[in-house]
Amino acid sequence: MTLDQIAPYIRTVPNFPKPGILFRDLTPLLGNGAAFRATTAALSDRAGDYDLIAGIEARGFLFGAALAQLTGRGLIIVRKPGKLPHTTIGHDYALEYGHDRLELHADAVPAGARVLLIDDVLATGGTAEAAVTLLRKAGGTVHRALFVLELVGLHGAARLNAQGVEPVSLFRYPA
Ligand code: AMP
Repeated sequence: MTLDQIAPYIRTVPNFPKPGILFRDLTPLLGNGAAFRATTAALSDRAGDYDLIAGIEARGFLFGAALAQLTGRGLIIVRKPGKLPHTTIGHDYALEYGHDRLELHADAVPAGARVLLIDDVLATGGTAEAAVTLLRKAGGTVHRALFVLELVGLHGAARLNAQGVEPVSLFRYPA
């Protein structure tokens, strides 16, 4: 299945979760075995050199786990606060209104491991930027971040580039 054949499985839902947002819904893609498998393969083709995959809660876990299984890499999970049972390290980051936090098990990243970051959607880049900061704080190196799709008008790619991370996405939407 080509990217053009996968594209129709990405559904746009207007005004979710709030008015004015075009939500890019990947559940039809996940629900089609051929489309999900081809998406995972396309992500793997663009993954470069890395030792471990880090998926961002929650939809980054889906694509991260699939890629980990395809490639035989381990999966690190980057979680919302209070979810991980063992000793954690965290990073607080600013949102448009308020702030949020991501956490990682303190021992999740072997020193110097090359970590490939993955999430479903790159929007403003705030979440991915925070995950990169946290993975580096944990001792890893991060050079590339993979996304199923990127909302180009929100300029997340520039934010990751400024961190020395190359963003790679399969699909690009204006916003
Ligand atoms: P950001 O930190 O702004 O890059 O937002 C990234 C996170 O929000 C990703 O984990 C996405 O799952 C989610 N997200 C943001 N905007 C959208 C959108 N328009 N459609 C689907 N998911 C989105």
